[in-house]
Amino acid sequence: MEPFRFPGLPTRVVFGHGTLAKVGDEMERLGRKRAVVLATPPQRGQAEALAALLGDRAAGVIADAVMHTPVAVTDGALAQLRALDADCLVAVGGGSTTGLSKALALRTDLDQIVVPTTYAGSEMTPILGETRDGTKTTQKSPKILPEVVVYDVDLTLGLPVALSATSGMNAIAHAVEALYAEDRNPIVSLMAEEAIRALARALPVIVADPQDRAARSDALYGAWLAGACLGTVGMALHHKLCHVLGGTFDLPHAETHTVVLPHAVAYNAPAVPDAMARVARALGASSAAQGLYDLAARLGAPTALEALGMPEAGLERAADAAVASPYPNPRSLARDGIRRLLDDAYHGRRPDAA
Ligand code: NAD
Repeated sequence: MEPFRFPGLPTRVVFGHGTLAKVGDEMERLGRKRAVVLATPPQRGQAEALAALLGDRAAGVIADAVMHTPVAVTDGALAQLRALDADCLVAVGGGSTTGLSKALALRTDLDQIVVPTTYAGSEMTPILGETRDGTKTTQKSPKILPEVVVYDVDLTLGLPVALSATSGMNAIAHAVEALYAEDRNPIVSLMAEEAIRALARALPVIVADPQDRAARSDALYGAWLAGACLGTVGMALHHKLCHVLGGTFDLPHAETHTVVLPHAVAYNAPAVPDAMARVARALGASSAAQGLYDLAARLGAPTALEALGMPEAGLERAADAAVASPYPNPRSLARDGIRRLLDDAYHGRRPDAA
């Protein structure tokens, strides 16, 4: 056993079917009486239903969350929040809604109860990415980490199939990079391998039958574990590439993760054979990179950056940006190797077995 540090898992988690009904109890545990419920515009109905369930404990609904947490949207929500005189935040939605909740918590130090409806995992992390004038900056603070996460499997039954597949691959990406994180530890590695196993088993079933409750439960369990990995250890090349591609070319978040992951893994594979063996084992595949590519293809998810609207002329710039201020990575970053990786991802080539 190598030396390690395990920082603990600070967020309280309530997991199950129908757990939305427990949000009021969780507010009580925190000593809170007036919640503002947050959502995106399309999920306003879910936020209003939760506000109705909370009755007197709901101060109002703010359904303004959008992708990438623009500061202007947060400022508008902050003004509404102050007028509503709330003492806690309840977020119902995916990473975009959680992002708004985190941005508000950072500015007000209000407690957050997050009810995730995708597999993105943001709810388990002290990380916030915000955009101002088109530039995304990321910061970390204990104020950003939600106090409570209520996972209600029932809320994921309506997650569209395409987003279920890519959001699930996004979660797998957190777990894969946790296995070779510079600050990895044995507990997070166990969680990571279990996350990959649960998601890889559940996602094909969900694509065939989105209402399969057992598969939905498995997938949300895997997403929780993967989110906890993301919140506990540092990410590497794959997350850096997705950050660059999303930020510079405005590519969609979960889809970009889905396309890039097999290629980032193929690049890193020679440096981390033990982590690759664990990924492959969890996927039931003989090669981690090929297993990830084949899973995405089997789910009908995108496998090429070209299909996401990435301009081919942008690949040079993306390669420059990826090596300019890299995240710690197990294999040193050679610009020509990264450029080749991006070319493979652009065209959607199946990676070689590593
Ligand atoms: P999202 O939150 O943007 O959701 C995509 C769309 O799907 C939205 O319109 C949303 O309202 C809708 N939706 C969500 N759940 C639904 C459901 N169950 N049924 C029907 N519609 C539903 O997508 P996402 O992939 O969850 O989040 C992406 C964002 O989260 C990005 O901005 C990303 O940077 C951020 N993120 C941050 C972290 C972090 O740790 N800070 C981690 C992961 C993702």
